[in-house]
Amino acid sequence: MDHLSSSQINLYLQCALKYKFQYIDQFPKPFRPSALVFGSAVHSALAWFHEEKMKGNQITLEALYRIFDADWFSQKIGEPLRFKEGEQEMALVNLGKEFLTMYAKEELPEIKGAEIHFSIPLVDTITGEDFKIDLEGFFDLVEGEGTIVEFKTSAQTLSASDIDNRLQLTAYCYAYEILNHKPPAGLKVVNFVKARKPKMVVTETKRGKGDYQGFFYIVREVLNGIKGGFFPPRMGFWCKDCEYAAICPLWKHTVGVKTKESQSAVEAY
Ligand code: SF4
Repeated sequence: MDHLSSSQINLYLQCALKYKFQYIDQFPKPFRPSALVFGSAVHSALAWFHEEKMKGNQITLEALYRIFDADWFSQKIGEPLRFKEGEQEMALVNLGKEFLTMYAKEELPEIKGAEIHFSIPLVDTITGEDFKIDLEGFFDLVEGEGTIVEFKTSAQTLSASDIDNRLQLTAYCYAYEILNHKPPAGLKVVNFVKARKPKMVVTETKRGKGDYQGFFYIVREVLNGIKGGFFPPRMGFWCKDCEYAAICPLWKHTVGVKTKESQSAVEAY
């Protein structure tokens, strides 16, 4: 284990057994959930859009759609996509383009960077404790005087309290502060909501020392859990999309809640 990311921390907290299957055992995944593929294709197209903007290039919607299509279809190579009940592939592809159109019409501030990778030593800024591991991640976008922007796709609008409590945003603020020797000028989430009437919701939030304290507490507990081999499964709504449901000791013995696809994945294993 040479680094930690906020998605690793979140996965460990959601279900430690899935974390183990994914990051320690590195078991192959029999399918890719459509929501992941959708989010990734939107992110790729936005990253390209921002990079072209930074170069001062004119961007047509058709070119933006082509980037989205290319990413979507490249992700279909390998594990099969698994759609939610009633979901249609072309409807999702069109929805992605609708979100990109909404975003491209917005007036954007100056772009400082897009898809910026960071890797910093994890050190508790309050106690000085060195966790002896790097925190890694990507800023989706940094704009204006140093505002971190994160893009999220979701089925429902993310609430302000959800955004205020997102560990990932705390981790990113901390990383920005370590890298730039000052806190970010702002922090916001652009949420593309896959509702009946698709919408784009921009929510601003902020972080302070108290949030960092909570973040380091969680980091410490998660690292202790991983190093101590503590990987209990935790069932919830997320199990329906779990790529490892077929080999999960809890899910395998649960009746009445499996989807047809996860049942066939059980049989395929
Ligand atoms: S099915 Fe649920 S409990 Fe089992 S590994 Fe996956 S997320 Fe965890």
